[in-house]
Amino acid sequence: MEDLIIIGGGPAGLTAGLYASRSRLKTLLIERLSPGGQILTTDWVENYPGFPDGVSGFELVERMKNHAEKFGLEILSHEVIRLELSGEKKIVITDKGPFDTRAIILTCGAGPHKLGIEGEDLFTGKGVSYCATCDGPFYRDYEVAVIGGGDTAVEEAIYLTRFASKVYIVHRRDELRAIKLLQDRAMADEKINFVWDTIPTKIVGKTGVEGVDLENVKTGKTSHLPVHGVFVFIGYDPNNALVKGLLDLDETGFVLTNENMETVVPGVFAAGDIRSKLLRQISTAVGEGATAAFAAEKFLESPSGVLPSSKC
Ligand code: NAP
Repeated sequence: MEDLIIIGGGPAGLTAGLYASRSRLKTLLIERLSPGGQILTTDWVENYPGFPDGVSGFELVERMKNHAEKFGLEILSHEVIRLELSGEKKIVITDKGPFDTRAIILTCGAGPHKLGIEGEDLFTGKGVSYCATCDGPFYRDYEVAVIGGGDTAVEEAIYLTRFASKVYIVHRRDELRAIKLLQDRAMADEKINFVWDTIPTKIVGKTGVEGVDLENVKTGKTSHLPVHGVFVFIGYDPNNALVKGLLDLDETGFVLTNENMETVVPGVFAAGDIRSKLLRQISTAVGEGATAAFAAEKFLESPSGVLPSSKC
């Protein structure tokens, strides 16, 4: 039986794994693919402390993984299918069999929110993308559209200017949600054009994307934007399928915890992007991973003990 199983290998999970392994807990991290999470879709990280010149998402995650493994963290590439959380012994059922554990930290993260319009599913991988780092190089000298007005949309639009001849940012309002610094960079970029007050209604093409139909939300006027790629960055949905009905979630499906990362089930913790919170950053995920591992250690020492502030 494990002391602790961490589900998800992004920055929150790898940090929890580092802290737990270093505290000599028998710890397993289970990740569906290879560790990294959304950080792998980030080309360049420039707001993680200690890297004033920035660092690639890939390098940062490799460093986190190597650091955790140095202290003995075991990482398995399995898909978790179901959780049994009712008893003192928790069971993590994977595609390769079940694992027993005394505590769990959920760090399953979040995935891209979809537009839900015609053509989106049909052309995913054929012109519709949710990852500029992965797919940007395919659009060298082509025009592309980015949907959204938050930090991700603007940051990725700036990244896409390395390849695309023109990048249209299509935003449903007339002001961006992104931080001022990113706004200023995008506004100063000659390759970036803004399409304000506008939503996409249909992605069109034959074998691949040839354009996107648009509607101005103020005037109702419709138009067509001929582009070869549509990059969708309109927020994220929590990867909560494993815990729906088992844990308390907020109205948008993110897991509710207290400040010790405890969920409503004793011995089950959540950290990182899957958690209901104000700010989703690598730095916040890392802090929460450390807190969750420390709280799990305290729980294992004294399962009935009460940590300060242990009410959700
Ligand atoms: P976000 O902040 O939730 O922004 C989503 C954007 O998509 C908003 O502009 C929103 O419009 C728009 N939108 C939402 N649903 C839409 C729909 N159905 N149709 C059209 N547009 C839609 O998401 P995010 O940009 O992915 O950022 C998520 C979190 O990660 C944030 O906390 C962000 O600060 C953080 N982040 C930080 C960095 C960084 O520090 N470098 C980079 C990326 C992300 P409205 O504005 O009208 O709501």
